[in-house]
Amino acid sequence: MTQTTETLTPIIGLEIHVELDTRTKMFCRCPNHFGDEPNTHTCPVCIGMPGALPVMNAQAVEFSMRAGLALNCSIPGFTKWDRKSYYYPDLPKNYQISQYDLPLSINGMIEIPLSGGATKKIRIRRAHLEEDAGKNVHDFPAHTGVDLNRAGVPLLEIVSEPDLRTVEEVMSYARSMQRLVRWLGVSQANMQMGHMRFEPNISIWVGDPEKPLDLSAGWCTPIFEIKNLNSFRALEKTTEWVIGYHRAQIAQRGTGWSDAQVGKQNWGYRDDLEACEFQRGKEEAHDYRYFPDPDLVPVEVDDAWRARVAATIGELPIARKARYIAGYKLTDKEADALTQDAPTGDLLDAAVAAGAEPKRCANLLLGRGSAIANERGCAIAEIGLTIVQFVELAKMLAEGKVNATIAAGLFDKMIATGQMPMALAQTDGVLAVSDAGAISAWVDQAIAANPQAVADIAAGGKNRQKAFGFLTGQIMKLSKGAAAPAEVTRLLQEKLETKS
Ligand code: ZN
Ligand code: MN
Repeated sequence: MTQTTETLTPIIGLEIHVELDTRTKMFCRCPNHFGDEPNTHTCPVCIGMPGALPVMNAQAVEFSMRAGLALNCSIPGFTKWDRKSYYYPDLPKNYQISQYDLPLSINGMIEIPLSGGATKKIRIRRAHLEEDAGKNVHDFPAHTGVDLNRAGVPLLEIVSEPDLRTVEEVMSYARSMQRLVRWLGVSQANMQMGHMRFEPNISIWVGDPEKPLDLSAGWCTPIFEIKNLNSFRALEKTTEWVIGYHRAQIAQRGTGWSDAQVGKQNWGYRDDLEACEFQRGKEEAHDYRYFPDPDLVPVEVDDAWRARVAATIGELPIARKARYIAGYKLTDKEADALTQDAPTGDLLDAAVAAGAEPKRCANLLLGRGSAIANERGCAIAEIGLTIVQFVELAKMLAEGKVNATIAAGLFDKMIATGQMPMALAQTDGVLAVSDAGAISAWVDQAIAANPQAVADIAAGGKNRQKAFGFLTGQIMKLSKGAAAPAEVTRLLQEKLETKS
């Protein structure tokens, strides 16, 4: 019997490898730095010379604990290092130091945002620490080179439970993880520099969608693991492709498929074809001959250490975003843009704490702030705006000393000169005039010069609104944009009423 497509549910888990932003490598003192001449950051330990002894990098362990705690994981009191054996030219030791049965973090959860303001909790199975391999360089005509600068860089492998069901969920999970590790300061998570690599496990459940993986309620297509995806686009394309491939296979073969080919398979994504191709049957753990590394002592984590790391975490992005929507009345999109990193939101919070109106502050940051950040290819918090500058500008706006247009101009000047906005406004003579006497004179002048507009207002009807806007514009022009708009409206209304 062929199943109808309605009963097909993708079952997806995601492994993410994250390079940690430590100063030195995981088990030696070579710099952890991307982009330098090949093989300049190497030593006997990371090129695998016999007899060289590894020493654990405590910073990498703390970064991993910070990520684990932020992912709501338990941090067991005892964890150890294991050798995972395999041969590859970029791994000269012939084994990778990793963690097998006792990882640093287990049983966590991350909440991810979905469209329409919904969220979903995705369970984290484990997050363990290991070392990265080097890189094979294929751009020579007659040979392949090996660059070992990356060999031994600390790598956090975060493994989800198979809780993801759609491409949207996969992408939101991956992006949430990127935001989180950046937020925590444990990784730059720069895709171009290979700081994050994705490995989705994908199969399709054919049966009761409420009971996935319960073999009495249906069956599952073989799990495809797609290796080493280094961009969000590749992750998205791959997930779409594998789901489509499994659906097509089910339509062709029905239930026969699962009987013919059971077990895990490794597939790779071909960027040029936008398709995946079979690589090999998946190794089982025993193929790697894991065993405890005799050169490294186990890591014991006590409550005091756990508490000290936990104290460095603070408010997480999803909680901050919810606070901006509920407390500051920002839209989902605005709140999302302002929680891409912690320091940008800190600017907003400081200005609001000083009495400024949240929405106007958000507009400044997402208007000129975002434009300048885009030009420079950096985060809004990195354009050189200080909290004191921003708080002063936000207060000037809140108190009507400048309007939104003037504030945007001052924003740019603050960034260019590093000066305070009030000083700049005084130098430029752009502070709003709310002095009733001065505004009153401009209002009188505009009324006298525009009898037709005054007549249109007096006549009421469809031209009234337009004429009022025109007069307001003339007054603003006479004041060279300095008149406080609320005061202009008030005085203009008052004077026109007494005239009619
Ligand atoms: Zn080294
Ligand atoms: Mn790994």
